[in-house]
Formats: sequence, structure tokens, C-alpha cells
Amino acid sequence: MKVGLLKTSLVNFPGRVCAAVFLPGCNLRCPFCHNGELACAPVATGPSGGTGETESYVEIEEAYAHLEKRSRVLGGLAISGGEPFLSPALPDLIRKARNLGLQVKIDTNGTLTDRLKTFLADPELRPDMIAVDVKTSLSRYGELAIEERAGPRLAEELQKTLQILKDEALRGGNASRPLRVEYRTVLVPGLVGEKELREIASLLPESADWELAGFISGVCLDPAWNEKTPYGPEETRRLASLAQSLIPGAKLR
Ligand code: SF4
Repeated sequence: MKVGLLKTSLVNFPGRVCAAVFLPGCNLRCPFCHNGELACAPVATGPSGGTGETESYVEIEEAYAHLEKRSRVLGGLAISGGEPFLSPALPDLIRKARNLGLQVKIDTNGTLTDRLKTFLADPELRPDMIAVDVKTSLSRYGELAIEERAGPRLAEELQKTLQILKDEALRGGNASRPLRVEYRTVLVPGLVGEKELREIASLLPESADWELAGFISGVCLDPAWNEKTPYGPEETRRLASLAQSLIPGAKLR
């Protein structure tokens, strides 16, 4: 199976030098996705091309070999995608990282709630950190789905995921391995504006770490979205301040 590999990163795992592995396949088709080749690739084999936007595609064994070789300088492994919870490779990847003493972070779109629950409940597979995307209002998830009519089901799953993560925070996480959670939203014009930010904020814990990122056109899964102009600096700052007034831990990347 081919996966994306970023050998060293200072930004994919807050506070840690990490490697990042990008697993193929995704159950969404966000039109603004920057990892379209990987998201649309078969879960079992990965992309047939050679290089993604920010990482190289390698056989998964090569990624394992890199982790082994560099484990002494790495503090963690960030597992992204695609949607990692779809991948049959995820359990082995987590076990390998743990055996090498690395902390594990998983990036997810939050719509595969049962898989998330299974991993959180298993001491071997429970990650140290989850970064969950809340991409727009729940009522707009049909615009991100492979089939629009799946929107309400995806939104329902995301809501369940957010509740599970809130409950984890209230419990203070598992005593032996507390769970750190980050929420993420890309400020995509036409998909995320004031109304959507207010709704997303209402779904998050007041103490949430909420990371906002600017939209970048040019490499979108749906080429029509490359024509969109990102918010200008002033509007971006206005939206970020609005988010901070609702959730003090909101920050613009
Ligand atoms: S959930 Fe992530 S990987 Fe999947 S299509 Fe959306 S942006 Fe791309």
C-alpha cells in the first residue's frame, strides 16, 4: 500500500517534532481538498502517482523503516489522510509508533464515530491527540459528501463525535493517557462565513483549542474552486476575532 510520508515536520503535531503519514481513501469529497489524489485513492492500495502536494508517496514498509531509523529524534507520529479511520493500516501504524516510544496524533473528519470509539476504548490504539475538522454548518455537509443525500447522516455522525470528545474532556481523559483535542476549520469563502462560524462555535466546548486556517486556491479537488478568491487580510482578521469572541482558544494559523 502506498501512503504519503512527510519525514519531519514541526507543524503537524503541536509541540512535537514528528513524522506524518497520510493514509489513502476518504469518505468525503470536500471540493477544496488539497489532498485529492490521496483522498480519492483506493483504501487498500493507495495512489498510483509518485508525489503528493506536500509529501512523497512510498510503500508503507518504507514509512515504517523511516520511523524506526528516526525514532530517537522524533517525538511523535501524526497520522492524516484521506480519512485515517477508514484505513485497515491504522492499527498497525499506531502499534509500531507506540513500540518506538512515539506519541500518536490522528487527524479526522469526525464522521466515522464507531471507529473512533473503538480506538479510544482500546489502550493499545488510543491516540494521544485527535485533531477533528468541523468544516462548516452541519446543514451543509451534503456539499462535502460523495453523494449529497448523505449530508444529514454525516452531520449526525460528526455531532456524535463532538459529544464523545466533549465527554472525554469532562472526564479529564483516560488517567493513563489523557486525550488532547484540537478542532480545525478552514475559512473557505462561500462555505465558512460569520453564520457558519457561529454555528460551529455552538458545537464546541467553550475551552476548545480551535484552529482556523486560511483557504488556499490552486490545488483544489474540484478545479472550479481554484477560481475562488480567499478572504482578504481584513475579513480574515474579522472572522478570527469573531471566533475568538465565541471560543477564547480560537487562533488563526
Ligand atoms: S475530509 Fe479531508 S481528505 Fe477527505 S476530502 Fe475532505 S479535505 Fe480531503
